[in-house]
Amino acid sequence: MFASTLSTFAVTVSVGDDGTANFTNAKFYILGSSNVTTYTSSSGTTVSGSIYPNDLCTVLSATGTYWKVSYPTSNGSKTAYCNKSNILNNTSYCKRISMGENTTVYTKSDMSTHFGTVYTTDTIYMLSPISSGKAQIIYPTSGGYKIGWIYAATTSSSTWRYPMDNYYCTWSSSTNLSWGNYNSNSSGRNYHVGIDIYGTSGKVYAAATGTVAAVGFNSSNGNYVVVEHRIGSSTVYSFYAHLSSYSVSKGNSVSAGQQIGVAGKTGSAATGVHLHFAIIDSLNSDGGYYGYVTSFSGNKVTYSGRTFYNPNYVISYNALP
Ligand SMILES: [Zn+2]
Repeated sequence: MFASTLSTFAVTVSVGDDGTANFTNAKFYILGSSNVTTYTSSSGTTVSGSIYPNDLCTVLSATGTYWKVSYPTSNGSKTAYCNKSNILNNTSYCKRISMGENTTVYTKSDMSTHFGTVYTTDTIYMLSPISSGKAQIIYPTSGGYKIGWIYAATTSSSTWRYPMDNYYCTWSSSTNLSWGNYNSNSSGRNYHVGIDIYGTSGKVYAAATGTVAAVGFNSSNGNYVVVEHRIGSSTVYSFYAHLSSYSVSKGNSVSAGQQIGVAGKTGSAATGVHLHFAIIDSLNSDGGYYGYVTSFSGNKVTYSGRTFYNPNYVISYNALP
């Protein structure tokens, strides 16, 4: 289900609720490029020594303002207390995040040295808001945790939503709104690479902010609109078919939730009035997207050189599967 490739550029993160990270046994490097003073106790009064910028340190206890840490010295290692503001970029920020891809973690915000890899399946907390395309995170490793930095982009400029209000699937009772379902209404062994929905008003909205890449009519899709979007470093296209009418033109900028048309049954709409909605990796300017493949499972399928993504996944995670 999850991509196994490493992201070369900013990974798309979906920022969730406030969380409480466990910092005990977290490996870290101090922020910045200056030595940090350590203290003999958690009161932070009597100086113990210094942590150097390239020392690999470990959190032993994370309570109060001065955290108990261990760090290397010329004779081995030392345990002392260090102000958590030298460890955390933002001492009051901790959000649970999910990521669209596995990505490289760096030791410091200069992003010069690799620290490891964080996987989409990990429980990850972001320890700072994204700034200059970077964010501090904590993630689990085999021996505890690591606090490091990733290149990240939020989806705030392209938060995804369903393209109709009060939507429901027009032919499948499944909670996946017909994605990947066998469609008995269609000839042959056909599995759906989009979702077929309808909503009470009939209004069809852009599912995310983007630019209209194509509009038109053909015999299978009827009146259709294609909108181009960015998700992190990827370009994707949302596709709206069988419209009774559309109200945008190629090149128009649209925002998430802006009405672009009205649902209908133009083209080959065997199940009656509905919106066929798909999310695809590449543009077919004549609108000739296929709605079905022979068989597949999971949240994406490649067919005839195009990748179709499960719209339910993209909308839920603001990321590609
Ligand atoms: Zn469909």
